[in-house]
Amino acid sequence: MFKAILIHKDEQGYRAALQDIDDTALPEGNVTVRVACSTLNYKDGLAITGKSPVVRKFPMVPGIDLAGTVESSQHPDYQPGDQVVLNGWGVGEIHWGGHAQKARLNGDWLVPLPKAFTPAQAMAIGTAGYTAMLCVMALERHGLTPDKGQVLVTGAAGGVGSVAIAILAKLGYQVAAVTGRPQEADYFKQLGATQVLDRAEFASPGKPLAKERWAAAVDTVGSHTLANVCAAIQYRGAVAACGLVGGMDFPASVAPFILRGITLIGVDSVMCPRPERLQAWQRLATDLDIRKLALITHEIGLADVIPTAHKLLEGQVRGRVVVKIED
Ligand code: NDP
Repeated sequence: MFKAILIHKDEQGYRAALQDIDDTALPEGNVTVRVACSTLNYKDGLAITGKSPVVRKFPMVPGIDLAGTVESSQHPDYQPGDQVVLNGWGVGEIHWGGHAQKARLNGDWLVPLPKAFTPAQAMAIGTAGYTAMLCVMALERHGLTPDKGQVLVTGAAGGVGSVAIAILAKLGYQVAAVTGRPQEADYFKQLGATQVLDRAEFASPGKPLAKERWAAAVDTVGSHTLANVCAAIQYRGAVAACGLVGGMDFPASVAPFILRGITLIGVDSVMCPRPERLQAWQRLATDLDIRKLALITHEIGLADVIPTAHKLLEGQVRGRVVVKIED
């Protein structure tokens, strides 16, 4: 038996609970992992509360990422005792995920735990931090360098936003943080932001073209915020868009694209090909100041996951939440 959060959807409704589950119920897979840590991402919040249709198979164990130790393996790359990390691939959506003491997975989805990190540190980064790294890598591929100008990060106090600020600051960028929590100015300064902007400034419909202010942006918000950010990107700049906390719509104009040649880069972490994942984790080992993880992260247990998921969606959680899985 092992403990896990299980989400049900049936005639009794949509509900999540911490339960004891028999090992025989584990899904198909060629690697069984003893989970050390998982995390609570925005998507996990949506899955646990049922606020959006993230879960597509029931019952489901949520948790889109995990770090742990291989217990048994029929995969040639993994032996019992190996430490591994998993992000995405539909885990926690269509395949049982990391909010559990045990997970059975496809070995092709796993990445060896980078030597630079403990399982808890890898999960302090988690899917949010790995996505922040993918956004920075996408902007670099577009030609972004620190001399081009300031970089804007929206949803700044969230998981993706906090890690994106820390990475960009370490790489030498001037970073502006867009937040609904300007009272957290000290937090953003410690992460490395040089300017803090109120998100209300971005939340309403704006002009098709605004004053050119930023060389690039990492956007986790979408909707009017993304449209307003695009309108104020410098000539030939780029925006890496990865999130939708403000809405899934994109009420924008083509003006910044056709008059300023800006680029909107979509970033997806879930199905991201393995070579880019490995590269992102390697880059995190060098381009993120590991000491900042303590500032960004707080730890909870499996029993706290459901109430914390509600708080996360209400915007009451800052930074990253690591779920420490006890034996
Ligand atoms: P968090 O909940 O940790 O952070 C989101 C932050 O966005 C909040 O802390 C808040 O920051 C801000 N925010 C919340 N609600 C609103 C709103 N209505 N309008 C404007 N800002 C708001 O989430 P994550 O950082 O984990 O994820 C951020 C987004 O990125 C989510 O949409 C998530 O689904 C997406 N994502 C996408 C991935 C991909 O592969 N494309 C991978 C990982 C995440 P503040 O208080 O500073 O304003």
